[in-house]
Amino acid sequence: MTGREPEEGAAAAPTDEFDPEAVRARYLAERDKRLVEGRADIRDLDHDDRFARYRDDPFTPLQDRDPVVDDTDVVILGGGIAGLLVGVELRRAGIDRFRIVDRAGGVGGTWYWNRYPGVMCDVESYIYLPLLEEMGYVPTRRYASGEEILAHLQAVADRHDLARDALFHTGVTRATWDEERQRWLVETDRGDRISSRYYVLAAGILNLLKLPTIDGMEDFAGHSFHSARWDYDYTGGGPGRPMTELGDRTVAVLGTGATGIQCVEPLAEAARQVLVFQRTPSAIGERGNRSTDPSFAEHLEPGWQARRMDNFQAVMLGRPVDEDLTDDGWTHDYAAVQNPPRKAPDESFADYLRRAEAIDYGIMEAHRRRVEELVADPGTAEHLKPWYRYLCKRPCFHDEYLTAFNRPNVTLVDCPGGIDRITARGPVVDGHQYDVDCIVYATGFEAELTPLYRRVGHPIVGVDGVTLAERWADGAASLFGMMVRGCPNLFAMPAPGQQAVVTVNYTQLAVLGAEFVGRTIATLVERGARVFEVSAEAEQDWTDRIVGSFVDASSVMAACTPSRINNEGRPELLNPRNGNFGRGLGDYFAYRDLLRAWLDAGHLDGLELR
Ligand code: NAP
Repeated sequence: MTGREPEEGAAAAPTDEFDPEAVRARYLAERDKRLVEGRADIRDLDHDDRFARYRDDPFTPLQDRDPVVDDTDVVILGGGIAGLLVGVELRRAGIDRFRIVDRAGGVGGTWYWNRYPGVMCDVESYIYLPLLEEMGYVPTRRYASGEEILAHLQAVADRHDLARDALFHTGVTRATWDEERQRWLVETDRGDRISSRYYVLAAGILNLLKLPTIDGMEDFAGHSFHSARWDYDYTGGGPGRPMTELGDRTVAVLGTGATGIQCVEPLAEAARQVLVFQRTPSAIGERGNRSTDPSFAEHLEPGWQARRMDNFQAVMLGRPVDEDLTDDGWTHDYAAVQNPPRKAPDESFADYLRRAEAIDYGIMEAHRRRVEELVADPGTAEHLKPWYRYLCKRPCFHDEYLTAFNRPNVTLVDCPGGIDRITARGPVVDGHQYDVDCIVYATGFEAELTPLYRRVGHPIVGVDGVTLAERWADGAASLFGMMVRGCPNLFAMPAPGQQAVVTVNYTQLAVLGAEFVGRTIATLVERGARVFEVSAEAEQDWTDRIVGSFVDASSVMAACTPSRINNEGRPELLNPRNGNFGRGLGDYFAYRDLLRAWLDAGHLDGLELR
């Protein structure tokens, strides 16, 4: 056993230089520059016609079709990784009548929409692409491109014939529980009316794109789009192919999160000029992508992928492992900061916290040094340095983003307080007008903080006409974060903010959620139950457990640069009811053991059956 020593991950933590007071003061000063009123405001794309087009699908033409009026066993909302895995599990359970419904023009979810140049998953491909063993597929690279992931998901759908009855380019407008017929009625924006015994919410966490509310956006005379709707008609090229139409154009990229940093280098290759508008620099660790070693597959034993996922998860939770199989920035830096070594018996709590802070500082210093080493211009390098604790923002990993600033055609526009306004000519920062032909909004998605009832994009009307939004007005209430009282025969795939757990490798959580849905439905069928509903007691017990394990970290988080993780600078408003099973991001293994024990017992404890 080699319990990982967290310090290993950081490149030589210079703790001797660490002056906690000075570092804290610097972090707070940088935070304050960004604590600007309205920084997280977003366009209401449902009601603002001027911006609704940003959601249109540029990849697949919309086909006319007649409305479908039908009855089925299961409607699955979403054809991304989660929805597809549910489909596979339903087939396994012998349930063949189901329909996937998705706004996209095909399967793939996040990977359907995000086809921006350079798109890549920064979680290792061998644990991220689902069902590798069943599909007999080995990803070609350590970190897979979006194109490879999408092709794999399409292959999964083909293998299991999951798209046969799917309704694409179709948004659900309302789902209503019909007590008399004991079925959900799912209505859509294509006029469909589908009744279904079960309804599974697999909407994902990156399905709602975010457009900021910068003044004057609608006045811009050039071309603009969100990164999740890349307009290759305008830029030329295609996913994985060079963009051919940008040679005489200046492109502005707004946003420097995981998306923004991936698309800058390909844009720099293609455009006359690229202006990168940065509000907060990401911490960008080494990527180290490489082709899969041809011998990799030769040594794989059956069950290897699940074991590799578990190995990653164990390291991320600070559990001892024989070997760190993934061995990357997540398992080094993220795990080290997340799981500092235990407090020594003779150590004061203050000293322990200081030690954890020093580990964090060492890792962030290594990131700042990396910027200095890679970026030639010292002024630009200074602005690209992240000054906050490592977990204040989602970390990024890339090997070409920072060096792109050494090109003569790439310029960083640092704007910690945001962009003043956008005119017909382009963004204005500190009174300076930047003239651009195109603006790419790499401004992200409504992720962790957006409640499930909003993410699904339509009212879910349960027993007595009460909606899920009304039920969850004071925060989530559920059994296992997947079933809700008042919403019979409804499953929600586990996700942040809904009393389940969070995993960096989302696929592993989706695999578990799909297994749960498939096996629960199989047991219900076996038991001859037509309807299940969570009992009031079971829901209360689960919610109490979630609230009971909530750790109020708001004092630490308040010192963070504002981000989704600290509720944009207001961590004290985070609702304990929307927490996870276990501390922090939750204990995936304990959660899985509990779900599997519940499934194995077969009693469906906590459910009222009819
Ligand atoms: P994001 O992380 O939310 O980043 C959005 C960026 O837009 C930030 O830099 C943000 O600045 C900036 N921004 C937002 N509003 C702005 C405004 N009004 N003015 C100026 N700048 C503004 O979004 P993302 O990069 O699309 O990533 C979203 C999530 O997708 C990630 O957290 C990750 O989970 C996932 N993702 C994963 C991968 C992968 O490789 N696995 C790749 C891409 C995305 P601030 O930082 O100052 O808020």
